[in-house]
Amino acid sequence: MQRNSRVCLNLYGLNEMTPKKRAWQWCSRYIRLRDCLAYCERMAIDLIQFHRIEDLPVACCTCGAIRTFRQVDAGHYFGRREGGSSGTYFDERNINAQCKTCNGFQQGNFHSYTTFMQKKYSQEVIDELYIKHIGGKKYQVGEFTAIGLYYKGAYEALVKEVS
Ligand SMILES: [Zn+2]
Repeated sequence: MQRNSRVCLNLYGLNEMTPKKRAWQWCSRYIRLRDCLAYCERMAIDLIQFHRIEDLPVACCTCGAIRTFRQVDAGHYFGRREGGSSGTYFDERNINAQCKTCNGFQQGNFHSYTTFMQKKYSQEVIDELYIKHIGGKKYQVGEFTAIGLYYKGAYEALVKEVS
C-alpha cells in the first residue's frame, strides 16, 4: 500500500521531501534573508525598490560577489563530516549566504570563509563550532520537524519585519 502510494506520488512528479530536506529548505531561506537584510542595512539600500524577496541583494561571504537571494546558497563553514552528521549542520552561525561558485566549485572557499568567520564572530566561536562539528549529532524522531518549524518561524518573522 505504502509502496503504491509512493509510485503514485512519483508519477505525479511530486517531490518526496524528507523532514531533513524540508528543515534545510526553511533554514536556507532564513539564512539567505537574514544576510540580505543585514547587507541592505549595512549598505543603506532602500528595500522599497524591491518587489520580491528573491531580488534582494547580498554579498557572498567568501568572495564578496553581489548576488540576489535567489542566486545564493546558504553555505556551510564546517560542511559534511566523515562518518555521520555534523553537529553544526543547522547551527545558524555556521551557515552564511554564499555564491554558488564558492559553495559548489571551490569547496566552500575555506580559507576566505575562516577570515569571514573570525571577523563576523570570533576565533572562540569557530573553536566552539569545530568541537560541535566533530562531535557529530544523532537526531531524535521529530527533531527535523522541530528544526523546520523553528526556521520557518524565523523566516516568516523576518518577512513580516520588512513587509
Ligand atoms: Zn563567492
